[in-house]
Amino acid sequence: APGSATTDHVTPTHCPYCALQCGMGLVRGAGGVEVVERPAFPVNGGALCGKGRTAPAVLSSRVRLTEPLVRSRVSGELEPAGWDEALDRIAEGFARVRGEHGADACGVFGGGGLTNEKAYALGKFARVVLGTSQIDYNGRFCMSSAAAAGTRAFGLDRGLPFPLADVARTGCVILVGSNLAETMPPALRYLTELKENGGTLIVVDPRRTRTAEQADLHLAPRPGTDLALALGLLHLVVAEGRTDEAYIEERTTGWEEARAAAMAHWPEYVERVTGVPVPQLRDVVRLFCDAEHAMVLTARGPEQQAKGTDTVSAWINLCLATGRPGRFLSGYGCLTGQGNGQGGREHGQKADQLPGYRKLTDPAARAHVAGVWGVDPDSLPGPGRSAYELLDALGRDVKSLLLMGSNPVVSAPRAAHVEERIRSLDFLVVADVVLSETARLADVVLPVTQWAEETGTVTNLEGRVLLRRRAVDPPGGVRSDLEVLHGLASRLGHGEKFPVVAEEVFEELRRASAGGVADYSGISYGRLREGDGEGVFWPCPQEGEGTQEEGTHRGTPRLFLERFATEDGRARFVAVAHRDSAEETDAEYPVVLTTGRVLSQYQSGAQTRRVEELNAAAPGAFVEVHPRLAARLRVADGEAVAVVSRRGRVVVPVRVTSGIRADTVFMPFHWPGEGRANTLTHPALDPVSRMPEFKVCAVRVERVERV
Ligand code: SF4
Repeated sequence: APGSATTDHVTPTHCPYCALQCGMGLVRGAGGVEVVERPAFPVNGGALCGKGRTAPAVLSSRVRLTEPLVRSRVSGELEPAGWDEALDRIAEGFARVRGEHGADACGVFGGGGLTNEKAYALGKFARVVLGTSQIDYNGRFCMSSAAAAGTRAFGLDRGLPFPLADVARTGCVILVGSNLAETMPPALRYLTELKENGGTLIVVDPRRTRTAEQADLHLAPRPGTDLALALGLLHLVVAEGRTDEAYIEERTTGWEEARAAAMAHWPEYVERVTGVPVPQLRDVVRLFCDAEHAMVLTARGPEQQAKGTDTVSAWINLCLATGRPGRFLSGYGCLTGQGNGQGGREHGQKADQLPGYRKLTDPAARAHVAGVWGVDPDSLPGPGRSAYELLDALGRDVKSLLLMGSNPVVSAPRAAHVEERIRSLDFLVVADVVLSETARLADVVLPVTQWAEETGTVTNLEGRVLLRRRAVDPPGGVRSDLEVLHGLASRLGHGEKFPVVAEEVFEELRRASAGGVADYSGISYGRLREGDGEGVFWPCPQEGEGTQEEGTHRGTPRLFLERFATEDGRARFVAVAHRDSAEETDAEYPVVLTTGRVLSQYQSGAQTRRVEELNAAAPGAFVEVHPRLAARLRVADGEAVAVVSRRGRVVVPVRVTSGIRADTVFMPFHWPGEGRANTLTHPALDPVSRMPEFKVCAVRVERVERV
């Protein structure tokens, strides 16, 4: 456990990893930076998981990058270089590509871990300095389906429209495709409290995860069938007369079409598709509808599918039909994954968006943001390719790429193909803290500061804007991403538009977001430093004549209590129907592969694989296999198998467990090389969100003689 905050020299800040953004204190001790508890921060109350507790190890890792690397034109190897040489080379590279192939041949790829200021500056850099439409980020691979479904239902996407603490006080939670006991362990306390308060926890997951073990009822549908499951539940809600007709009448539109679509999904059909018995479906409806307050929370399971948006819409429809969203202690929410997964999608690093969650195609939005940026609205490019489509276009239409805060060689679907596309680039620039698998392929690698070495804001999964404070000096030779963008912009003629001080960037971001959906204009660093640093929930418009410069609005912990963010104030049902996954099993590939995370690693593992304690706990990839499948394959626990899909083959040890469906295998995706799960995954994209189908593909499993 972390120590206690007993000294005056504690810097209150937040974990660098997941979207819970646990509060922690950092102390400089003789042995380096130490983590101490910060019990006053409400979200985690001082608790941290092993990832957060060991995060300082990455600050002083012996593999930390501390000088720029430039690929030698002679040896072809990455060699140390000065900052001026590296930045000159990058500026020349982009200028050359732009001159030869046009602005859209320059690509930018960001990340959901970047601070709000960095995400904002990166989007502005792409559109103002490079003039390219080709910018997207790895958050597209994370929660974009929930964002799209939330927007079309409620007119606004904020992961949770209520504080996480409401989860403990509601009556029934259906948790769909989230293993938060491993991905964000301190959040488990809310589910424990829910049950202690007499509430019911229903978990939907093809695996009996540590989270599912806590459930009163665990449903284990076949991967890729969550949409049918939600429709079957809605069918039963209607058939059993459990709809909230007054709410539907007053607060929604589109019910008749959604109702008709659900009624076409008979429970017996849903049982055949999902493998979930009808009596279990009836139990869910009874428990959910009997509760005075109830909520559905989704995560990557239903979202990372080529029908992810419709799947989330189906769960939202269930909530709307039973009168939950916009009511106290009730509703629908998404458990966003990455550290700044929420803020990362609000400030303009998405292919189709401008700061304030504005649409890039909206003339008024373009005019407003262009005014803040001091450019002609007509000079702003239109929407570009989504993340996978951008990666797929590398070396073809997109010749050069600036990559910040992402490691797609490990984390992108169909990763061998993506790696090949990255290798085919004319020019690749990666800014990172270590030499990630993607950075190894770069022409220029820039060593950048990380969380505890810089100040910036993040927005957690509740829409709570938080201040991460600099606690230690970065190693010599390292610069911040903001300094990198300033240095490049200066060389390309726009340096004055790119401040290097995070607070100055935030002040501009406030103005750019003003009047948008995600309005930060009433939030300031001063306000974020107040009290126990519990943060401010957006939207927080600047209004009133309060004594503070930023006005009187105190932020919005709970959304939609009076109206939804749609034009008419009503939530919209969306009629959806079940459909097959992009790749169903067949005789050649008879098993479903689903992918996910483990307790001691985070995302592509670029940071956590460099932490000894985490590596000892989770040293490498594996595949979970049901005992019946293991017997058929004649493999025992720990023996090697090849997992083969139409896109590639990996070799990993087997973990035999009865906690998974017999028709399904599971692989975590944190590792590169022979155990890279994303070698196998399918890049089929959701038509609305452009989310790839990480959670479902067809594989065969073969016994091999070695790991
Ligand atoms: Fe908290 Fe997530 Fe960091 Fe763990 S990884 S300490 S759950 S923010």
